[in-house]
Amino acid sequence: MSRRLIVMKFGGTSVGNAACFRQCAEIVSKAAQQDRVMVVVSAMAGVTDLIFKTIEAARHADTAVTEMHLQEFRQVHRELISNLFDPGRHPAALEFVEQISEQLQRACHALSALRSDISAQTTDSLVGLGERISSWVLAHYLQQSGVAGEYVRAEDILITNNNFGNAAPDMEATRAACQATLLPLLQRDAIPVIAGYSGCTADGRTATLGRGGSDYSATILGAASGADEVWIWTDVDGVLSADPRICPDATVLPEITFAEAIELAYYGAKVIHPKAAFPAMNAGFSVWIKNSFRPDAPGTRITRSTSSPINSPVKSVTCVKSATLITLVTRRDVHPVELWGRLFLRMGQEQTEVLFATQSSPEHALGLVLRKEDSPAVLKMIQNIFRLELAQGVLAPVEVDNDVAVVAVLGESMKGKCGVLGRLFAAVAHQRVSVIAVAQGASELSICFAVPAASAADVVSAVHGEFCHRREEAVPGCMGPTLAAMSGAQ
Ligand code: ADP
Ligand code: ASP
Ligand code: MG
Repeated sequence: MSRRLIVMKFGGTSVGNAACFRQCAEIVSKAAQQDRVMVVVSAMAGVTDLIFKTIEAARHADTAVTEMHLQEFRQVHRELISNLFDPGRHPAALEFVEQISEQLQRACHALSALRSDISAQTTDSLVGLGERISSWVLAHYLQQSGVAGEYVRAEDILITNNNFGNAAPDMEATRAACQATLLPLLQRDAIPVIAGYSGCTADGRTATLGRGGSDYSATILGAASGADEVWIWTDVDGVLSADPRICPDATVLPEITFAEAIELAYYGAKVIHPKAAFPAMNAGFSVWIKNSFRPDAPGTRITRSTSSPINSPVKSVTCVKSATLITLVTRRDVHPVELWGRLFLRMGQEQTEVLFATQSSPEHALGLVLRKEDSPAVLKMIQNIFRLELAQGVLAPVEVDNDVAVVAVLGESMKGKCGVLGRLFAAVAHQRVSVIAVAQGASELSICFAVPAASAADVVSAVHGEFCHRREEAVPGCMGPTLAAMSGAQ
């Protein structure tokens, strides 16, 4: 029987220092005794943020801060190398770090001199440099440990469109590149080690897949090379019933579906990138989330359908802590849907992500709940599209509430269950928190609602306590149509 092909992705904390690199190498070498393995690596924890901060300082010609960050970038990687490599491998590794550091330094000096805005394309050519070092280092450390690690440039195998900063894969081209580059390596039992987060456009420019994108790199490359499974190694035991930083008593979910994972990530669970489930779902392989600090813990399996018995209709509670509610109200004598249609069309063209929207017809009001960082662009869009309507009073002045958080409760087995909403909002009411807006998807996979940002953690804890801790009694199924969408202030 041919050996399975497993893609292993190591996140930032899993490659946070030399000891973590040793642990990754041990995990890889153990797995390679049984399976064929390819590896995708994130930048060391904090390094991508550091690059963004360096670029920002350079752009503002803040030389002192730029130099301080550049020095930190060099230092973090030099220290890694001196703690990891034998004296014989030391010079080549230092030389590699120096080359990359110089590339970043040259670009930052140019930016400082120009004091100009930086294009998304130039940003993408720099922000993946942390991954370039960590993947090179892991490949060469595997070799030092007697394991056949082979550094492969992500730009040679992951082909994307040119939506810089949030690129999408060209699966056809990526498949062809993987066939040509990875398969010969795998056939001779080498272990390809690839930088996460970046790929390359058809015309040879580096493009990133968005923040946290190494998970996505892993499933894209898994789908393109016919992997049997993708294992995402991180710093928690799997997907938990809530963010452990908010609910320290959150428990590991043994299994969740792709649909649940997508929803969970969309509504703030950082443990997996929102798009990472798609390539796996299309190709039909499972994704495991595992703890690189406790490699023997079973982890969470993300798969097409789950078989484990469910004792709560709600599996997980998540939260987007910084959101904005934009409310648009029309005059009563106009048909609002035509106006909303124009706005949604434009948001679609700009690929704006709406967390949820509510429409209450009698009030002629549309509530749009967005990630806070997306709201300035949408407000600008509204001013442009509705310039006349706003000037003539067809639309009332736009109301903006920047202090909201979105809480989402998720679980496929909420479908058809009576009483979930009642229990949910009773738990919220116990916190003496007023719900600002609410929506339940027609699929009944999630219920999300906006609350004041300052109450978000209390609400998540209360809802988690209600559904994920209490022993569940059998919940009767509902008859007839279920609530598809609700809106309004409470
Ligand atoms: P990595 O660097 O390995 O990619 P991330 O920091 O991106 O790791 O994601 C892992 C973190 O996600 C965990 O440390 C945890 O704090 C956070 N997290 C938020 N929600 C959840 C959840 N529902 N389950 C597990 N982890 C979660
Ligand atoms: N290093 C990148 C980030 O911090 C990608 C990743 O770690 O997934 O966003
Ligand atoms: Mg991550």
